[in-house]
Amino acid sequence: MNLNNLEKTLNPYPSFRLKQAKEAVYVNLIDNWNKASNLPKELRGALNQECPLDIKAEIIESKDKQTAKALVYFVDGFAVETVLMRHKDGRNTVCVSSQIGCPLACAFCATGEQKLTRNLSAAEITEQVILWARKLKQKNNRVDGVVFMGMGEPFLNYDEVLKAIRVLNSQEGLNIGARHISISTSGLTEGIAKLAKESLQVNLAISLHAPNNQLRAILMPINRKYNVEKVLAAVKNYIAETRRRVMVEYLMLGGLNDSEKEAQELASVLKQGLEKLFFVNLISYNSTGKFKPSTQATIDRFKLILEKEKISVVQRFRFGRDIEGACGQLKGRKMA
Ligand code: SF4
Repeated sequence: MNLNNLEKTLNPYPSFRLKQAKEAVYVNLIDNWNKASNLPKELRGALNQECPLDIKAEIIESKDKQTAKALVYFVDGFAVETVLMRHKDGRNTVCVSSQIGCPLACAFCATGEQKLTRNLSAAEITEQVILWARKLKQKNNRVDGVVFMGMGEPFLNYDEVLKAIRVLNSQEGLNIGARHISISTSGLTEGIAKLAKESLQVNLAISLHAPNNQLRAILMPINRKYNVEKVLAAVKNYIAETRRRVMVEYLMLGGLNDSEKEAQELASVLKQGLEKLFFVNLISYNSTGKFKPSTQATIDRFKLILEKEKISVVQRFRFGRDIEGACGQLKGRKMA
């Protein structure tokens, strides 16, 4: 699929043709322009040439059918991962990538080992959602939410990510409610400040993973530039401007960041008069080999300490363990 040339190809035509074409792609979810019967035949031919709609993807399903993961290949041969999570309540959430590889090299992440190749265009980000939307449509179902938690740091590709969000959110696009779209960042303060100024109700998630700089620097080299204090100060400003809750993501790594001491420390850095607007998401670790996951008993103890300190906390359900559930793992294996 390649929608990068859509506007250019339709430029010589009256503007309503672009509207019709977008409706065919995003609303009717067609996979070949010949199915857009309201477009003139010669235009359909030109669009098939310039903006092909077939998506080249390899899909694997988890045994419990709750998760499907795909490697989506773009025209230049590079690929990213995207995941469909089918929730028990019937909702479907898609996790998308924003970059091919990632320059931030977080120690626990398979994508970080792959370095950055390039940013994705808004069309390539949207394509990942369209892949799943087409599949779900066959069963009269739809994509209800999107999370930017796949490969890449979304705020290093801010403009294209925001452009994609507007398409996902628009009624003429995929019509996914902004409140059901989440951006996860490793804490790039400029991006957090910019997002606060957008007139969008999207959710913000911060990958903290450690309550102090010593530990966070081991896990996330980016902590040298954006340390715990800077990140939390930016989040504080974001909350003051938007009054929106922010999710704090915390990967539970056995024997590394999961002791009672770290739970207390996390509670105290979040308790700055804003604790009601933070909620912590404890994430079970899908081992990439370097670290080991925390035991459930340790996670329960950590959770209890945060709750006692009046911090909202949930444990993220672990999707797709049997299909390389952590970001970058599937692509990493293909490259090995
Ligand atoms: S966790 Fe996210 S920011 Fe860190 S290396 Fe992986 S993709 Fe990049």
